Amino acid sequence: MKLSEHFTLEEMLRSETAEKKGIENRINAVEVNNLVRLCTKVLEPLREHFHQPIHINSGFRCQALNAAVGGAKDSYHTKGRAADIPMHPGWLAYIRDHLPHTELINEGTWIHVAL
Ligand SMILES: [Zn+2]
Repeated sequence: MKLSEHFTLEEMLRSETAEKKGIENRINAVEVNNLVRLCTKVLEPLREHFHQPIHINSGFRCQALNAAVGGAKDSYHTKGRAADIPMHPGWLAYIRDHLPHTELINEGTWIHVAL
C-alpha cells in the first residue's frame, strides 16, 4: 500500500527484529494517517530536493517491537510519527531549516525525524 508517491506502508512496517522475534507490528488507521503525513510533509520533499531515494531504517513500531529494540517509551515511532533514515550530507540541515518536524536527532549514522 502506498502512503505517498514514493513510500509504502510495507517499508514503514518492515523490521528485522520483528521478523526474528515473531512480532506482528500491527498498525491502526490513525497511525497510518500519521505516516502519510510524515511522508507527505517531510520525506517526499526531502527526496524531491536531493533527488535521492530514501531508505527507511525504522518506521512504525508497535509497543512490543519498540520495547524489543530498546526504543524510548512513548516514542513517536509507536504513533507512526517518526522515521529513522540514513545520514547523508545536507539532509539533517535541510530538514532543520526547511521542513516541518517535532523531533530531529542526529544519531551519527542515521537521522531520527518525527512530525
Ligand atoms: Zn528514531
